[in-house]
Amino acid sequence: MQATSNETGGVVVEPTPIQPTPRGETALITKFKIKRQQQKTAQIYLQSQYPKSKQIADVVVACVWTAFAIRLFSKIIYAQVMGSYADSVFLILYVACGALLADFLSGMIHWACDTYGTLNTPFVGKTLIRSFREHHVDPTAITRHPFAETVGNSFFVTLPWVATASLIDINSYWFSPLIIFWSVVMFWMAFTNQIHKWAHTYNPPTFVKYLQKSRIILQGKTHNYHHFSPYDRDYCITTGWLNPLFLRLDLWKKMEAIITKYVGTVPREDDSNWTFQDTVAKPETDK
Ligand SMILES: [Zn+2]
Ligand SMILES: [Zn+2]
Repeated sequence: MQATSNETGGVVVEPTPIQPTPRGETALITKFKIKRQQQKTAQIYLQSQYPKSKQIADVVVACVWTAFAIRLFSKIIYAQVMGSYADSVFLILYVACGALLADFLSGMIHWACDTYGTLNTPFVGKTLIRSFREHHVDPTAITRHPFAETVGNSFFVTLPWVATASLIDINSYWFSPLIIFWSVVMFWMAFTNQIHKWAHTYNPPTFVKYLQKSRIILQGKTHNYHHFSPYDRDYCITTGWLNPLFLRLDLWKKMEAIITKYVGTVPREDDSNWTFQDTVAKPETDK
């Protein structure tokens, strides 16, 4: 059995030859085994679409981002902590509000990449969309990714801001509260996939367990709701704070209905080709 990407970026898995059913094996078990085999093939193919050039680019971006980020965030901490009492309180507010906004943005990006596009979508197909498809086919693959691969895309997207803001003089008019707030948002965005990785990690570091337990960052047990077919809920993966609200508002379904009505695009068409999850039962929702 072989998997390839067709001209629209969808997965094409060659049909598995029908094998005689072993004695005592039900049709359901056979179907399950075939599906597992198809998923394995899709998983290998998706991993192969992370070329050496992108691996090197991710390491370079991670190093450059870190250098600018140390400069920027040490300036922000210095300005806020060494300032008045109010400045320190504002820093806490920036971190909390920044986390909320980053959670919203993570939900929007995750939802868009899961729901639409293929591996052939310009700019984001082989980068963002590929990694989201791989994550549904093999949710634990992310825990085996090196740091640079985990944060590569988010560091790349936030790099222009982090680099530019780090060069602004701390005493200048331009180093305003808005610049500080947006820098904090960029920090949360940059580490969103690392937070997501920790949500899937069996035994994360102690400080991470504390942050998860305190609900400051995404918890594994609540994120698991996203990983049941058809992967249509709980898209927010920074803190997960907005997931219950969006579920109650039925936000994602409503947005999909509008897009289908006016554009005609079918939600998760490509994703369902990769995951072969059509027969998996949905869990009880806590709606
Ligand atoms: Zn997803
Ligand atoms: Zn996940």
